Amino acid sequence: MSFNIVRSTSTPLYSSKSKPIFSTLLRSHPTSFSTIFSPKPIAPTLFISATPILQPKRLFRGGIVAMAAPGSLNKSEEEWRAILSPEQFRILRQKGTEFPGTGEYDKFFGEGVYNCAGCGTPLYKSITKFNSGCGWPAFYEGLPGAINRNPDPDGMRIEITCAACGGHLGHVFKGEGFPTPTNERHCVNSISLKFVSANTY
Ligand SMILES: [Zn+2]
Repeated sequence: MSFNIVRSTSTPLYSSKSKPIFSTLLRSHPTSFSTIFSPKPIAPTLFISATPILQPKRLFRGGIVAMAAPGSLNKSEEEWRAILSPEQFRILRQKGTEFPGTGEYDKFFGEGVYNCAGCGTPLYKSITKFNSGCGWPAFYEGLPGAINRNPDPDGMRIEITCAACGGHLGHVFKGEGFPTPTNERHCVNSISLKFVSANTY
């Protein structure tokens, strides 16, 4: 008598290394981000900074920053390799992800603007940055027209890119319950950004 050995195959739920870490984190600590990760209270900053966001978009768009036209800064792969570091190229042009908790701006909360590290286009104001505890810089809103959104090929997440040069920034998540004006979290690789202090304007 013989037995047939039936091999069971299991399909991984996620192909990305970062996804399970973040999902586990959310399930494990749904209400304790600030106590674990934030050295100082963040709520007052959020509510104070919400004021300009309530202005009509026409006024907001009216002239704080000059933006590059969408797609105006496209370059060839060779050109990008020449001006970006290998790690910048891996993330911005090949849609990589930096390891959580390691990025330059993860716990940074200076006042200013975050530009695209690839083309220099302003993407986020520092007043929209909040401490999500996820391990990457988090913003609740990008500058108007600066960020493009597209579903990942597997349909599981929404990728965000610089509208001007197409550089990969990270992903945007909705409805997670963070106390922000938009209930959205732009989860952005630090290396995709270049902070410019308000003191240098
Ligand atoms: Zn760009």
